[in-house]
Amino acid sequence: MNPATLFIDGEWVPATDGATRDIHCPADGSLVATVSEAGEQDTLRAIAAARAAFDDRRWASVPAAQRCDLLRRTAAGIRDRREEFARAEALDTGKRIVEARLDMDDIAACFDYFADIGAHDGGRVVDAGSEAVVSRIQYEPVGVCGLITPWNYPLLQAAWKIAPALAAGCSFVLKPAELTPHTAILTMRLLADLGLPAGVANLVTGAGATAGAPLSSHPDVDLVSFTGGLVTGRVVAASAAATVKKVALELGGKNPNVVFADADFEAALDNALNAAFVHSGQVCSAGARLVVQDSIAERFVDALVDRAGHIVLGGPFDDAAETGPLISADHRDKVHAYVQAGVAEGARVRCGGAFATGRSGQTDLDAGYYYLPTVIDGVRAGMSVVRDEAFGPVVTVETFTDEDDAVRIANDTDYGLAGAVWTQDAGRAQRIANRLRHGTVWINDFHPYLPQAEWGGFGQSGVGRELGPTGLDEYREAKHVYQNIAPAVTGWFADRREEERR
Ligand code: NAD
Repeated sequence: MNPATLFIDGEWVPATDGATRDIHCPADGSLVATVSEAGEQDTLRAIAAARAAFDDRRWASVPAAQRCDLLRRTAAGIRDRREEFARAEALDTGKRIVEARLDMDDIAACFDYFADIGAHDGGRVVDAGSEAVVSRIQYEPVGVCGLITPWNYPLLQAAWKIAPALAAGCSFVLKPAELTPHTAILTMRLLADLGLPAGVANLVTGAGATAGAPLSSHPDVDLVSFTGGLVTGRVVAASAAATVKKVALELGGKNPNVVFADADFEAALDNALNAAFVHSGQVCSAGARLVVQDSIAERFVDALVDRAGHIVLGGPFDDAAETGPLISADHRDKVHAYVQAGVAEGARVRCGGAFATGRSGQTDLDAGYYYLPTVIDGVRAGMSVVRDEAFGPVVTVETFTDEDDAVRIANDTDYGLAGAVWTQDAGRAQRIANRLRHGTVWINDFHPYLPQAEWGGFGQSGVGRELGPTGLDEYREAKHVYQNIAPAVTGWFADRREEERR
């Protein structure tokens, strides 16, 4: 039977041309389900539905408190169906079910956060300096939003966009990554069940170049919010420029994890593993560059290599597994090519650097797309392994002498998404945090984020911020309404009507 997984104008429909895509679990290649593969025509229909829904104000005119009530019920719905959602995400991504459950908790928290702030911001009165003037700023929804998301945290990345868009009163078309559509489908069902008017939320499951591209180029889309890789981000921004639509970009990172000799050694070591290898490094903020002080470097890296070599790999429902597979065979090939390029440039693989196929005692890995946790040293600034995002379980090691050297190395990247500093010297921690050119800086930690704190990148890690109050502002226009309550003749231009009549 032809699946109908496109949600357009409140209806579940198949792709116009009947195209479908099989979704496979990366842990063993098994078929998860078959979904509709949207093409350009489907996205154009979804944009038209979102435009009509926005223009007749069926959602924008709903009081903010009621819109936010729907967000709160969405959070509750995801919590109620946590296992179903987590399972769908684990099967699509191959990530461990325990991680997928935590993602669902974070997603529900995100909906709750935007419900809280979306209902309590009615604009502001401006002092115009005259009693004859009433002046105010009011916030209005930006309009139709094109939301494009990646496969690593499929619903989390979508929630960071959907929740503020709905809180603000926008309508949207969501284009999730083609490999991981299932939690987006579940979320659309939930929103419809909760009574979101038809046409406000639309979903097209399909490839980027076909189903995704109109979301950046089409004049009826007011904002495109994209999370994904740098190369695609550039294409999206260039395409959006023709219609000067608003653009929000959450791109990649090459994130430094700076460890000083005075750090708590065991805590820093344990977190260096988390930084690099959680979700097999398929995390935009992964600590893929270990930058360690030279006096402890040998001991620290030896211990890291030892522990990385013993990380247990496995599928979503393997209780012993500590991390999972890469998203696809293609992606694993890319990660391996990146490691080999490093070796060709003179870097040294200390552990890993290979497919996990045939790993002793783990034959069940052979059908999946597993890659061994990899530590690379002997690198120099400028090498591709130090500059380019691997988006896999690969960490490079650089060493530094003092604070200035640490900051110089940590900031030597085109990206600027996140970074960490490990030290027990509170003053040093603050000095380094102030000097790092990254959107998030962790001190003696790695990876935590909060829905109430802005997330985004300096440099080529992106444009704009998600989460926090700024994450809501991305979906609103500030309008200045200025009223003169005592209109009078200004006399700026002389009135010559009398002269002409004479
Ligand atoms: P990607 O750039 O390949 O794809 C991202 C999305 O863009 C997908 O939905 C894809 O179908 C779509 N797309 C591709 N070409 C398109 C086009 N021409 N027009 C419109 N859409 C198009 O990225 P990916 O491989 O899915 O995700 C990994 C990347 O995402 C990494 O670089 C990672 O760092 C980044 N990421 C960033 C953040 C962040 O918060 N900054 C979070 C998660 C992931």
